[in-house]
Amino acid sequence: MLIIVHGGICVEEIPDVFEPLYRACLTGMNVLQEKNAVDAVEEAVKVLEDDPRLNAGTGAFPNLLGEVELSASIMKDDLSCGGVAAIKNVRHPISVARAVMERTRHILLVGEGANLFARLLGFEEYNPVAELTVRTLKKSIERASQERDSIYHYYLKRARERLRRLHLGTVGAVALDASGHIAAGTSTGGIEMQLPGRVGDSPIIGCGTFAWEWGGVSMTGEGEGIVTLGLARKIAEWMEKMSAQEAVNQGMELARRFGVVCGAIAVRKTGEIGFGECGGRLTFGYFTEGMESPRVFPPSS
Ligand code: ASP
Repeated sequence: MLIIVHGGICVEEIPDVFEPLYRACLTGMNVLQEKNAVDAVEEAVKVLEDDPRLNAGTGAFPNLLGEVELSASIMKDDLSCGGVAAIKNVRHPISVARAVMERTRHILLVGEGANLFARLLGFEEYNPVAELTVRTLKKSIERASQERDSIYHYYLKRARERLRRLHLGTVGAVALDASGHIAAGTSTGGIEMQLPGRVGDSPIIGCGTFAWEWGGVSMTGEGEGIVTLGLARKIAEWMEKMSAQEAVNQGMELARRFGVVCGAIAVRKTGEIGFGECGGRLTFGYFTEGMESPRVFPPSS
């Protein structure tokens, strides 16, 4: 049994997210004692979604117009999967993604359709805007109150600038349970100043999240690059022939070739973990059977 979680990749200064990562590992491992990998992933991601320091659920970044649009996906090693993109006003997008996986014939619901689905299934209306986000993203939020067209023009002027200062802060988890099953999940508010309706890699199966019989992967980083390279699927597939660490390393090598800032966590069915980063620092933690307590990077300051 094991669980590995991440709290996103940071491009400049590394935020102190030790505590939520530690708690997510503990929660995941507790769940694994009684339940399965998908339960552990969901519960660990919920812990991270609830923490305002991370860009998922509560504390997620608002888009260019100041609205929070959330995305998440989850997948099991039998290839069942589900996701939501640009959903609003839910506390735990990962749970809605799981409901898409378990209660529909679809794998991805977006925008209004995802909102409606969540409401009809009884997910309560919830405002994910955190005070901390309002403080740290003050400038962007002020800008969002300007007239819409001028915000779009502002965006278009800066659209090609690469992200260099953000803690991207997406969250994810991959777990292996006692019966040898693997699940992976990812949840995000996207990237700062994204256009309304933008969808990154996190809710897309094979891009931000992938699991199959050989292993599972959750990604973070520049969604557009991750989608283009189909990174989660590639890393997961490579685990058939190589260790989790080698597969992640190969994924990061590919990302480096194309200048994609990203990070990955992976679990192989043989019980190994892998983690890696390209162009930034990954915040992550893991807890495996036999360890007394979770290990988190960077360690608490
Ligand atoms: N991958 C996410 C996205 O592009 C951002 C992140 O990982 O922080 O939406």
